[in-house]
Amino acid sequence: MSIVEIREKVQSSERITAQEALWLWKNASDEELRELAQRVRARFHPPERCTYMLMRIINYTNVCVAQCDYCAFYTLPGAADGYTLSQEQVFAKIDELMAMGGDLVGFNGGFNPQLALEYYCDLFHAVRERYGDTMEFYALTIAEFMYLADHARLDYGATAKRLKDAGVRWVTGGGSEILTEEFRRRHSKFKYTVAQYFEAQRAIVAGGLNTSATMVIGFDETIEERIEHLERTRQFQDQVGGLGSFLCWTFKPYFTPLGDVLGGIEISTGEYLRHLALSRIYLDNVPRIRTSVLTQNERALEGLLYGADDFDLPIEDEVTQKAGATISLQFDRILGFARSLGYQPVYRSVARGRTTPVPVG
Ligand code: SF4
Repeated sequence: MSIVEIREKVQSSERITAQEALWLWKNASDEELRELAQRVRARFHPPERCTYMLMRIINYTNVCVAQCDYCAFYTLPGAADGYTLSQEQVFAKIDELMAMGGDLVGFNGGFNPQLALEYYCDLFHAVRERYGDTMEFYALTIAEFMYLADHARLDYGATAKRLKDAGVRWVTGGGSEILTEEFRRRHSKFKYTVAQYFEAQRAIVAGGLNTSATMVIGFDETIEERIEHLERTRQFQDQVGGLGSFLCWTFKPYFTPLGDVLGGIEISTGEYLRHLALSRIYLDNVPRIRTSVLTQNERALEGLLYGADDFDLPIEDEVTQKAGATISLQFDRILGFARSLGYQPVYRSVARGRTTPVPVG
């Protein structure tokens, strides 16, 4: 195996294997990874263009029974600091985002046994009725979707239908972290198996909802586990389809049990960027690779050089903020950084299904 052989495969749009991905990770220089990632990126996007969205995560409840050891966000049922947002509180958060020029929210909470399917359907119906198509919302992550289905004693297909009838169009691929059974046994044994995760995602696609792929790195996962995650994602896309994008972010270890065990150390931005490049090269069937401003701040924009083409400007996400993420609202500065790297950022509206060169202020 050599960089020359792998480069020839990428140049001729041939797929690389897991063994070649491992070889690249261990042996390729940053420049070589960037070059290969840019080649794959160019199959999907104009070289100098990138897209972005202004959005917020709405953490509608922090009550959760999953007890993942990498989480600083949740509280158990009955705890004094547990909360669930009312519809009015949700509307206020959406209004604030829209006043800033954003038009996308993602709902993300916990496995809250006090919330029935009706809470979700009522909430999503109310949001759709109030805002129509002026904004879009990612209703739940797949992990929450699975818990919701179990809690309601419905299969995944019936749950997808109930949500769709309530106005939902998206259930994103969140809650994946590292998609190996062993990783989940180590860190999130109540958060469903990998097989269940994909079974749910298959039902979401079959039910006519949009979805996406995600990944989180920087726990104690091995490089082989990272590549297994990419391989499972690529296989799902081959067999089922429906993955418009892949978003990878990094574990924030602060105030988490796992972070304490690992010494509270984050992986470097350099390692994150190399992983983005490897993901771009490996996921040759996923059009959009997204880089995480939420966890890497403006250095995430360097991910554009490593094959990414899209990013969020987030204004809130309590889950990562509680674990140490910091959010900047200096959007012009962040977009200026993208321009300084040679890219033209263009606003991408999920709600309106189009991109426009309108900068947010
Ligand atoms: S990561 Fe999500 S599912 Fe896991 S404990 Fe935190 S809120 Fe619950």
